[in-house]
Amino acid sequence: MSNQIKKLPFLSLIIASSIILSTMYFINFAYSQSKPSVDGLKVRSCSCVAFRLDDVEDFPYSSPLIGVMEVFREKNIGLTIGVVGKNIDVDTKQVYYYIKQRLMNHGGNNGAAIEIANHSWEHGRFLNFTFVEQSNSVRKTNEKIESIFGITPTVFIPPYFEYNNDTIFAMHENNMRFISANDTDSSVYSRFSNSTIYHLPATAETGCNKCNATKSYASANKSYPWHGIEYEETLNQIKKSIHQYGFAVVVMHPAEYSLEHDAVAFQNTLDLKQLRQLELLIDKIQEEGLHIVTMGNMINHY
Ligand SMILES: [Zn+2]
Repeated sequence: MSNQIKKLPFLSLIIASSIILSTMYFINFAYSQSKPSVDGLKVRSCSCVAFRLDDVEDFPYSSPLIGVMEVFREKNIGLTIGVVGKNIDVDTKQVYYYIKQRLMNHGGNNGAAIEIANHSWEHGRFLNFTFVEQSNSVRKTNEKIESIFGITPTVFIPPYFEYNNDTIFAMHENNMRFISANDTDSSVYSRFSNSTIYHLPATAETGCNKCNATKSYASANKSYPWHGIEYEETLNQIKKSIHQYGFAVVVMHPAEYSLEHDAVAFQNTLDLKQLRQLELLIDKIQEEGLHIVTMGNMINHY
């Protein structure tokens, strides 16, 4: 627990009490019901896949971002986008206007509309932040999203997949329900613990930064820092995740959909070749009989 909480025993007591009381009432559905399969034990599965588009902001990659969001609109499927609070509704506002239009056409967060998630205020490293700084970042972003889009996010995506116990407290303080980091999880906040906040980690990806040497991507040239992944590889990650957890969350970044991303000359131009991989991936997921849903809606598919 942070020093800030220690300095505020009364607040700490309230938070701790509310966690205990609510824990008695709720269950960590997504994870405690979906523990990794052991020795062939079958996990409870929603047979569903959520796509998570990170780093949604008005610069520098508005074209790749809009290009990816358009694929989901054309195919009429749900998408969760991680908005960086400070950097939306600024610059040319192209991404902002696009999202605004989508929300008007689809009526809020329902159906195949875009689900807006909180991806922090300035994309800072939360492990370097105090509890108060983390909570302020979450709150300011929620307030801005509410004021410009009229939507209250329930999903928080910590930048760089980094979070700790203070992040969970900050989410409680801001009435958020889902956190999505990655499946390395955290020793502090175990996915096997009961909690009112569900952890829906990214378990698959369409691109990767400095790809882990243990992974083998057919198209990956290890001398380049950012790779787009071919759809077969992502599909394998999804199948593995469904088998292990009962769901899959696919993380995407505008970088892999930016032209010349693999030459480290990122451009604000859509890479149609990589976008085609995304279209093929979505088609294959649907052919497998898996549902594509937003992250906040995933729990309703069990
Ligand atoms: Zn990010």
